[in-house]
Amino acid sequence: MTKFAATSAARSLENTVQDHYIPAEAPFSTLVKKGQTVRIEDSYGQQAIDTLFYNAEDYSERYSNQDTMREQGAAYVSTGTKIISNEGRVMMTMTADSCGRHDTSAGACSCESNTVRFGHATKYLHACRDNFVLEVSKYGMGKRDVVPNINFFMNVPIAPTGEMTIVDGISSPGDYVELTADMDVLLVISNCPQINNPCNGFDPTPIRVLVWDAEA
Ligand SMILES: [Zn+2]
Repeated sequence: MTKFAATSAARSLENTVQDHYIPAEAPFSTLVKKGQTVRIEDSYGQQAIDTLFYNAEDYSERYSNQDTMREQGAAYVSTGTKIISNEGRVMMTMTADSCGRHDTSAGACSCESNTVRFGHATKYLHACRDNFVLEVSKYGMGKRDVVPNINFFMNVPIAPTGEMTIVDGISSPGDYVELTADMDVLLVISNCPQINNPCNGFDPTPIRVLVWDAEA
């Protein structure tokens, strides 16, 4: 499904330093070193990719959605957005975005919120919060370290009243975002397993994560 689009003349699928296939509904994490660029690809389209960022040297410094929105004066993230930490530092910079619609207000799905939104019968369904807790536990972190995240490719229009709704995603197969690291970053992803709202087109699908060195 990958439709490789070169955002740098020196980059290709042959000179990646990391190339990961992430199955539908699965968690994932990797280290992105300062200067490297990571591409997060929605390989089949309409797939929410819940994402968190931690300073690889000190996990207590991590993504802050409030500071990121406040610093850029906008509710959505796209090319040019600086990913700001809870200590006010730039962690990564978004350098490409072929989709144009990503959320950082609606948070991650959980078994508890599923129960409230969709009924108690959904409690057993796998959720992003479980994915995040499983993945950060590999690094000695726990529930309290899972903070409000970015939902790449999730379409959440915010009304003038502040009301938010999760609606059909607009991403096509192969759409991607790229972020260049301003510090060594632990990237943590939940490939969202939600099947009760349209954030994954009611059909969670695999994604791909690629990393290039600074010179590429
Ligand atoms: Zn989710």
